[in-house]
Amino acid sequence: MDVLRKRYQGFFEESRRSLLNMTSEITYAEVKFKNESTSLGTKSEPSAAPKEKTSLHKTNPGFPKALLPSLLILLLLLAISFFIAFIKKDWSCCPKNWKPFNLNCYFISNDTRNWTESKNNCSAMKSHLLVINTKEEQDFIIGNLDEKSAYYVGLSDPEGNGAWQWVDQTPYNASATFWRPGEPNSLSEHCVILNKPPRSSWGWNDVTCKELHRSICKMMKIYL
Ligand code: CA
Repeated sequence: MDVLRKRYQGFFEESRRSLLNMTSEITYAEVKFKNESTSLGTKSEPSAAPKEKTSLHKTNPGFPKALLPSLLILLLLLAISFFIAFIKKDWSCCPKNWKPFNLNCYFISNDTRNWTESKNNCSAMKSHLLVINTKEEQDFIIGNLDEKSAYYVGLSDPEGNGAWQWVDQTPYNASATFWRPGEPNSLSEHCVILNKPPRSSWGWNDVTCKELHRSICKMMKIYL
C-alpha cells in the first residue's frame, strides 16, 4: 500500500509541476504578446507623425508653385497698365502753334472770316470750332485771347428760335453758359462770338453770321 501511495504521490507531484510549467509558459506568452503589441502600437504612433510632417512638407513647396503663374500674369497686367498710363501722359501732343489744355488742343486764328468760313477752316484742319464744356476751359481760352479782337465759337441757332446748337452735337446746357449780361439779345443774330468790350468781362455774344472775326478751333490731343 505504501508503495502504491508513494507512486501515486510521485505521479501527482509530477503532473502538478507539468501543469504549473504550462501555466507559466502561457502567462509568459501572453505577457510577451502584450508587450509586443504595446511596443508596436507605440512605435506606430511616432511613425505616423513623421508621415504627416512629410506630407506637409510636400504640400508647402507646391503652394507657391501654383500661385506663380497667377502672380506673373498680375505683374504683367500691372506693367502694361503703367506703360499705357505713361504713354498717355507723356507722349500726347498738339500740332505746332496749337495750345494744349487737358485732353485737347486749341488753335487761335489770326485771320478773320465769317462764321461758316471759320467752321470750314477748322474742319479742314481735322478739328471743329470751339465747344466750351467747362468754366475752366473757358478761363484757359480767355487767358490766350486779345481783348481787341472777337472770336467765333462753335455755337449757333440756325433757325433763329433760340435753339442753340454746338457744332459737335454736344447738348446745349442752358445752366452752363457764359453769355455776357443782356445776351443773347436779337433773333436776327444766329452765331456766337467770345469777346470783351471795354470795361466789361469776357463772355458770349450772338452776332450776325456774316461778320468777320477771328476764331478758335479745338481738337483732341494726338497720342503717339
Ligand atoms: Ca448779341
